Amino acid sequence: MNKILPWHESLWQQTLSRKNNLPHALLLSGPQGMGKGLFAQNLAETLLCDQQQACGTCKPCHLLNAKTHPDLLSVQPADTGKQITVDQIRSMIKFCALTAKYGRYQIIIINPAEAMNRNAANSLLKLLEEPSAATLIMLISHKPMVLTATIRSRCQKLDFSRPDKSLTHNWLVEQLSNQKQAALLLNLSAQAPLAALDLAESMSKRQELFDSLMTLSTNDPVRVAESWAKMEVVSVLKWLLSWTADIIRYSATGQTQYLVNQDQLQSLQNFAKYLNLQHLFKLLDLQQEAYQLLTSSANIKPQGLLETIAIAWVELKRKL
Ligand SMILES: [Zn+2]
Repeated sequence: MNKILPWHESLWQQTLSRKNNLPHALLLSGPQGMGKGLFAQNLAETLLCDQQQACGTCKPCHLLNAKTHPDLLSVQPADTGKQITVDQIRSMIKFCALTAKYGRYQIIIINPAEAMNRNAANSLLKLLEEPSAATLIMLISHKPMVLTATIRSRCQKLDFSRPDKSLTHNWLVEQLSNQKQAALLLNLSAQAPLAALDLAESMSKRQELFDSLMTLSTNDPVRVAESWAKMEVVSVLKWLLSWTADIIRYSATGQTQYLVNQDQLQSLQNFAKYLNLQHLFKLLDLQQEAYQLLTSSANIKPQGLLETIAIAWVELKRKL
C-alpha cells in the first residue's frame, strides 16, 4: 500500500476520485522538497496495480517494486544540472506508440520538467496536442514558469506550493531526534518538509560555514575559500546567499522577524551594524552569479569564484 504524506492527503483523494477520468497530462508544481516525485510515483503505482491500490502482491506491483514495469517510464536528465534532450523525448514518444503491456495506462514521469531544452519541449508539445487515450504524462516542476505557456495550458495543475503548516510541522517533529529544531528547519527550507528533513543532517556543516564567515576578516580569505571548496559548493553558495539576504533584511528594516536564519540573529545583527546596503547588494549579485554558473555548468572550477566571494566579504568591512 502507498504511504501518502499527510500534507498530500487532500490532493491525493481529489486525484484518486477521478482515477477513471484523469487528464492526459498533469503538472505537479511547487518548491523542491514537497514530495511531488513521491506523489507521482504513488499515483503511477496505484493506477498500474491490478487492484488499483498498490496492493504489493499482484504481478504489476512486483514489476513496479523491481522497477521493471514496462508501462512506466521515467524521464530525467542524465546528470544533475544537465538538460533533458530531444532524443529522450523522442524515445518517450516511441514508448507511447506501444500499447500498454498490462492493459492499463502507460505512464510517463518527467522530472524536473524545466530541465527540458527547447527542442525537447517542442517535441513534447506535439505529443500533448495529440494524446493517446491511455497515456498519463506527469510533469514535475519546481519552476513551472520556466515551462512554456502552451505546455502549461495543456496540463492540469496539481499545486504543492502551500501545504498545511500544522501537518508538515507535526510530520517533521515525528521524524527528528531534536524536535525543537522543526520550526527552524522548515523556515530555512521555505516550508518544504522533505527538504527540511534533509537539512537536519547538514546543520553542523552550516554552522561550520557560518563560523568561518564570521571570523573571515581575521583569517586569510584564500585559505577560507579553499576550505569552502572542499564542502558541497552549491550548498555553500545557498547559505552565503541566505545570510546575505538576512543581513540586507535587517539593515533595511531594523527588524529581526523577517530573517530566515532565526537561530543566528545575534551574529547577523552584529554583522549588519558595520555594513552598508549598496555594498551588500553588490555582494548578493556576485554570489547569485556564482550560484548560477555553478548550477548551470559542470565545468566551472569553484575555487576562483569562492576566493572572489571570500575577498568581497572581507572588503565589505574594510569599505567603511
Ligand atoms: Zn497490485
